Amino acid sequence: MNILKATVKAIAATLACVAILCSCARGPIKGVIITGQNNHNWPVSHQALRLTLENSGLFEMDLAVSPAAGEDMSGFLVDFSQYEVVVLDYNGDSWLEPMREAFLEYVRSGGGVVVYHAADNAFSGWEEYNKIIALGGWEGRNENSGPYVYWKDGGLVKDTTPGPGGSHGAQHEYVMNSRRADHPVLKGLPEKWKHAKDELYDRMRGPGDIKDLLYTAYSPTEKGGSGREEPLVFTVDYGKGRVFHIMLGHCGETLENNPAMQCAGFQELLLRGTEWCATGKVTRKVPADFPTETEVSLRKDYQAPDVK
Ligand code: ZN
Repeated sequence: MNILKATVKAIAATLACVAILCSCARGPIKGVIITGQNNHNWPVSHQALRLTLENSGLFEMDLAVSPAAGEDMSGFLVDFSQYEVVVLDYNGDSWLEPMREAFLEYVRSGGGVVVYHAADNAFSGWEEYNKIIALGGWEGRNENSGPYVYWKDGGLVKDTTPGPGGSHGAQHEYVMNSRRADHPVLKGLPEKWKHAKDELYDRMRGPGDIKDLLYTAYSPTEKGGSGREEPLVFTVDYGKGRVFHIMLGHCGETLENNPAMQCAGFQELLLRGTEWCATGKVTRKVPADFPTETEVSLRKDYQAPDVK
């Protein structure tokens, strides 16, 4: 009997070793969504982000919810060492020095960061944060924050003209234009696809050190935009860390009334960008419901129909 038990144990141990060695047997990517203050509807946006990520089966997301605006922030400290990726859904009171330092050290040492929508409004006076996001808007940003950066004549322009950083016109559906079709995040996706009704951030400013520009979209003056092709999705290198910045996804009033975040294109980019931040790879295939150049596609349940 003891021999049988020992044999079973040995087989189990061998199987465990094989599982560890086989990359396909790894568990979900462990991440955290930082939220709790925002000029946007964070009680809905963080749920939409979490549902989208976890419903893919690829991620297990914790939440780090800050104290409310104006409250004591001294207890707000995330243990970043637990995570392969951090999703920023935060635009509010300054983090205190220990939290700032912990975050910077996490990124410098190779941590992944997803900068989602208004997270690029945050912390206009924090120099290192602005290097991480590359471009930001509002909160007093101007020529001192860095140049305007936009796409013109086949390349990115850095324009030092003085003026405020960050604006957007009326929400509308718009076509996303691929600028790096060979990047893992874009692999297999159409070069043009129609995003659901959303804000289109324009005239953003910052250090502007974009590593790979992934998507731009034209901001039409007749909607109150800049008349420029604006960089909306890109990557940034900071230390050993990978940063994925996605300006899309203005949050609606409820999970049900939330087209920008229900867009299959937004959700797929979030999934691919978050995986890429964490691992440097993208394993997802192109889903059947991805938008086309003329047709918007919504995932109202925050779940891809057929792709794990
Ligand atoms: Zn917004």
